[in-house]
Amino acid sequence: MANITDLLARGRTFSFEFFPPQTEQAAIQLVTTLGELAPLRPSFVSVTYGAGGSTRQRTHEIVTSILRAGAMTPMAHLTCVAHTRAELVDIVARYRDEGVENILALGGDPPQDLDAPKSDLANAHELVELVRGVGPFSIGVAAHPEVHPRSPDRASDRRNLATKLSTADFAITQFFFRADDYRRLVDELAALGATKPVIPGVMPITNLASIERMAAMSGAAVPSALVERLRAGATPDDVRRIGVEAATELCAELLEGGAPGLHFYTLNRSSATREVYANLGLAVT
Ligand code: FAD
Repeated sequence: MANITDLLARGRTFSFEFFPPQTEQAAIQLVTTLGELAPLRPSFVSVTYGAGGSTRQRTHEIVTSILRAGAMTPMAHLTCVAHTRAELVDIVARYRDEGVENILALGGDPPQDLDAPKSDLANAHELVELVRGVGPFSIGVAAHPEVHPRSPDRASDRRNLATKLSTADFAITQFFFRADDYRRLVDELAALGATKPVIPGVMPITNLASIERMAAMSGAAVPSALVERLRAGATPDDVRRIGVEAATELCAELLEGGAPGLHFYTLNRSSATREVYANLGLAVT
């Protein structure tokens, strides 16, 4: 298996993100999706971590089963919230002992539950340092092209990200819909001396209802021109086709602009990602 820092040093990476399923049916769906995406030979695949440790065991099981299956390189997401330092060390040490080489170190969102356990770590940068101390991992962090919703201003958002990247190996962005937002982020980081790879995160829109909700949660604005374009779709199939077209155009622009790779938010489905891949001529023959 591979270390993502090494993969990035060799060239562009193409990666897919999944979340741990909550039902048996969703688990079957994920297995199907992994099987459908494996032939695209992604550089790596990542598995999210439920807020406050709610998927602690499931994330671990999916990551280590992908590792054991041997076809794809996994990366485990991990968040600080509601964990003690000792718990985090334990989680990371288990990954190290099982041969997992890649961790995405995240702050996580504050729990809604006021009785949730306190977090020992204040932010993702502290988690990067903790993971570094446990083993020789390749460590990624999150970047927010349109500025993290909790950041008071753009300048402090970029300073905190640059600090995080000084000890991490690479970043993956929240999804966004305008290539300019990505370019601006990379330029602002470069001005602060942060030049490690920032992989753009892409989420093809496949239906209008969910995208507005997800965008509101993530702080990513859906540009009105894109909303109008999607609304022109007369049927759900049309909306999906237009969403895939728009994602293809964004990916092409990002690659042309020199992005170090693409990270697809798959929502545990394969078809939109496969279509964008084929449109870009990335499909492995
Ligand atoms: P941080 O880097 O800790 O930043 C959070 C906020 O704190 C920012 O506003 C930052 O500017 C500020 N900050 C950071 N350091 C300091 C400091 N020293 N002083 C003052 N302010 C500071 N969430 C999950 O729950 N599970 C997942 O698996 C998951 N995967 C994700 C994958 C990607 C690629 C991305 C982009 C996001 C993911 N998220 C996930 C969401 C993420 O946890 C949230 O966006 C969270 O609110 C912030 O995480 P962060 O790692 O950016 O946090």
